[in-house]
Amino acid sequence: MGKRQKEWARRAKDQLIVDLGGACVLCGSDVELHIDHPFGRDWQPRKLEFSHRISRYRQEYKMGLVCLLCAECNEDPENKPLSREEYETQRKQAQESEAPY
Ligand SMILES: [Zn+2]
Repeated sequence: MGKRQKEWARRAKDQLIVDLGGACVLCGSDVELHIDHPFGRDWQPRKLEFSHRISRYRQEYKMGLVCLLCAECNEDPENKPLSREEYETQRKQAQESEAPY
């Protein structure tokens, strides 16, 4: 993968994290955020190149299929996937908490 493509993907990922509210949906932490699929997914992120993965995440973001989890919540086996309703509520809160410039 080219250097420019890599830089694009990195920036796109940072932007996506901002768009998703910039914090873990479960505990509000902003440390080591991961893009999570609360309803599961039918593809393997590890099998895609980083930039392809980010493009896919962006599409899923537009469809409301991804959210942010911090490393701790992501690894917690007690952590159950969100219901669609909880997810929509948190997504709305994240959007409303954005500074109204
Ligand atoms: Zn968390």
